[in-house]
Amino acid sequence: MPDTDLVGLRKQAVNLVADCFSESSFAPLPEEDIPECGTLQFDPNVAAWKGKIDCEGEWQEVIIALKSTFPDTIPRVYLINPPKLIPHITENRHNHICAINESEVFINYEKPVRIVLDTLQAASRVISSGLKDRNIEEFDTEFQAYWRQGANQRWLSLLSPGGNPRQVWVLHFKPEIGNVSCLAAESKEVGKKWIEQSGRQLEGVPRNALYLPLSQPIRPPFPETNSEVNRALRSLDGNEPLYLYQFLESNNKKDTHVICSFAVKEYHTFCGWIHTRPKSSGKRPLCQGFRDHKIPGKVQLTSCFGSRKIIRATVDRVDADRLQARVGNNQASFLSVKRVLVAGCGSVGSKVALNLALSGVTSLTLVDNELLSTENVARHICPMGMVGTKKVDCVAQIIEKHMPHVEIERHHQDLYEIIAKEPGILAQHDLVISATGNRNLNLRLNEVHTTTSNDFSVLYAWTEVFGYASHAILIVPGNGGCLHCMLGRDYDFKHRVIMLSGSDVLMQEAGCGSTFLPYGAIDADMAACIASRLALSHLLGEVTRSSRWVYLGDLDTAKAQNMPISAQYQDGGSNRLIKYSLHSSLDCNVCHQ
Ligand SMILES: [Zn+2]
Repeated sequence: MPDTDLVGLRKQAVNLVADCFSESSFAPLPEEDIPECGTLQFDPNVAAWKGKIDCEGEWQEVIIALKSTFPDTIPRVYLINPPKLIPHITENRHNHICAINESEVFINYEKPVRIVLDTLQAASRVISSGLKDRNIEEFDTEFQAYWRQGANQRWLSLLSPGGNPRQVWVLHFKPEIGNVSCLAAESKEVGKKWIEQSGRQLEGVPRNALYLPLSQPIRPPFPETNSEVNRALRSLDGNEPLYLYQFLESNNKKDTHVICSFAVKEYHTFCGWIHTRPKSSGKRPLCQGFRDHKIPGKVQLTSCFGSRKIIRATVDRVDADRLQARVGNNQASFLSVKRVLVAGCGSVGSKVALNLALSGVTSLTLVDNELLSTENVARHICPMGMVGTKKVDCVAQIIEKHMPHVEIERHHQDLYEIIAKEPGILAQHDLVISATGNRNLNLRLNEVHTTTSNDFSVLYAWTEVFGYASHAILIVPGNGGCLHCMLGRDYDFKHRVIMLSGSDVLMQEAGCGSTFLPYGAIDADMAACIASRLALSHLLGEVTRSSRWVYLGDLDTAKAQNMPISAQYQDGGSNRLIKYSLHSSLDCNVCHQ
């Protein structure tokens, strides 16, 4: 048991704050008047006071509430009767003010009263800025938070942001993905593929929709009716309303889905809504003077169905650019035009392929002629339930489920077969990665690659016994050495770390004919990590010549185990990555002839 009595300390902190307020104009609220009482799922308010704070000369009445975790967390502040809608206030949460971003501050929990006073001061700044319109652009950075408040649908979007207004597609699917069952895509085909790869089924017929990139953000109060949409779009200075009129006219029989986006600090944020149509009765026209399917768009939005409510939707981007921007990769569009082939879908290859997909590569080819077997599972990305399926299929499935926008070509074939019969397949890629761990195959691939004129590069990745070292070797044609340059007199790899020959390191499972190299899942991860990193660096143009990366694992343990460590690495230390450029060796009979 810890010596710190956190529950006691928290009670004490609340009492200290209560003492402080008892000498001020702030009055304690009875329990039933505490805001969000009973509606907060986590960390409810346990005590609250009401009083006025000075917002640059204007006195505003607020409630400050302490959470159950106070003083480890910042109190909540609510503005009573805001004079107008201002940024950082959530209307449907009793006008909660987001005054301080908790992840940006260090909280001194030893000074609870100080925390309360600082929070009130921060709230005063937010309210003052809002009332004086100084932070109006913060509506835009927090757009989603405000838009969500009146939205009762959620959609996903694969659309590439920007460009011209255009017709796109809306597809429904089941089962839901995180409460969402609707996807917007540039074409029906792209949408269907994504749904299929996510393991979902298309539901109903894809419907066309309008995508409207806006020249400026829409700001609160947000439109709730057709005529308010019209007004909001007309207040921007582009042609947005005209596109919507046209689309409504061409879509005259059905509800109309609209998706729009605008850029905030170079990042595109999306939202959507549906214009619903009343049912045609057949007898009386919906709109006086027009046949039901000939009502002009502008008339629909104004006089005819002007007061009709729209259905607002939040739109979550699932396109590659957004997923990559989220992980700090702003070169996703550059990577998305690259094609990478991964040969060998074992422990290293499967992880390399997944890493590349997660990092923004959207076009992959997998080559492997094996089936997933029980002994693979402990160091593979595919689970036991997939045993017996082709490795190319199960690896593709795992990647597609994870990143459904990725295109994967599968070849249930040996790499030798491709080299011999269809070498053109290799040349269709920017990078070929051999994670086969097959030395003879790698040397054959190197010979074919280096001696014929090729634009693509090849990366060889493998790990040594017990993961004591991992190698990633990139061969860029005509720019540095080749794999054969690194062969010693005994035809063995010159730069291996543990100086054992193949027969010394391969193990045989008792009673089973197959041999294997012992190393664990983490060792395979390490090999996959450095191979993926080198692959990405090359695809992004950061590494442009042939290179050799070696990761030295736990060589201290290797020493203790009396492993023969190569003299090259004796003093290298454990757990580090060393990078070398490769030069063509004068006596290489492959690249130097
Ligand atoms: Zn060479």
